[in-house]
Amino acid sequence: MVRTFIAYAKFNLYLAILGRRPDGFHELDTRLQSIDLADRLECEVTGGPDLEIDCAAPEVPSGKENLVYQALARLRTRAGERRGMRVVIEKGIPPQAGLGGGSADAGCALCAANELWGLGWSPPDLEQLAGEIGSDVPFFIRGGAQRCRGRGERTEPVPCLPPSTWAIVKPPWGLATSAVYARVRSGLTSPGPESRMLLGNIAKRDLSSVLRAMFNDLEPAAMAIRPEAGEIKAWMLGLGMAGVVLAGSGSAWVGLCPDPDVAVRARREAGARGWTVFLAAPVPRGWIETNR
Ligand code: ATP
Repeated sequence: MVRTFIAYAKFNLYLAILGRRPDGFHELDTRLQSIDLADRLECEVTGGPDLEIDCAAPEVPSGKENLVYQALARLRTRAGERRGMRVVIEKGIPPQAGLGGGSADAGCALCAANELWGLGWSPPDLEQLAGEIGSDVPFFIRGGAQRCRGRGERTEPVPCLPPSTWAIVKPPWGLATSAVYARVRSGLTSPGPESRMLLGNIAKRDLSSVLRAMFNDLEPAAMAIRPEAGEIKAWMLGLGMAGVVLAGSGSAWVGLCPDPDVAVRARREAGARGWTVFLAAPVPRGWIETNR
């Protein structure tokens, strides 16, 4: 029987780079929020030992290179599971956008397989294994709103954003996460008062202060690779959006849409520039099972 799961994207309310670690990764302090922009995973248990991952999107690999394959192969070996799984991925999250699409799929697939293979692993066990797949995969096991530290794998639940509409603006080009981090210069910011203030403001559900405190230390690196990236930010601010920040390592930008007119204008004007606008709202979890 085919079961359908929805894997939600994320964006970062703030992303502070604290320094470079001896293992080559950057030490982060970031706050992730799940949003209802999503991929769809159709999962079916198979009798044989194979894992079959199909995705029709041209920028996303099928088979062994897909993060879903890597996640399921690891879980299957670790759990001693003999059955296989077929997963068909329908992308709604644009790739190379900084919205965590591949990681969301991997986290969701781990949770789906845990259920469909009847493994009974706890969320902390799944998070531990997820950290071996990628730094931000542990977030997607529970999703919702979390503060993530270390490489991003040390997660801590925090209050979810209040209901709000966010515009996500994606140019036709993507940015590779590794290329953006390679451009980060030293003399990095500290977690600073901004992130502490932000945490307090979200706890109080004071959205306007949250908007003022949003930042992303990766913006200069992304703009060094693609100077046009700055045009997107300026355009969004000019339309009246607030809290405009780069989504993760880009190439998408995220900003709060203060009213429906701004969303309509954004959609109308973005096309002429070759950009795509998605509208999304915060959700309190990383994935759900659906029967639609
Ligand atoms: P990150 O998760 O590092 O922030 P991102 O959000 O910018 O990355 P992704 O959507 O994860 O972007 O895509 C990054 C690359 O990962 C893609 O170009 C693709 O080659 C590869 N990839 C592997 N598996 C998947 C998947 N299931 N969905 C999307 N991309 C995948």
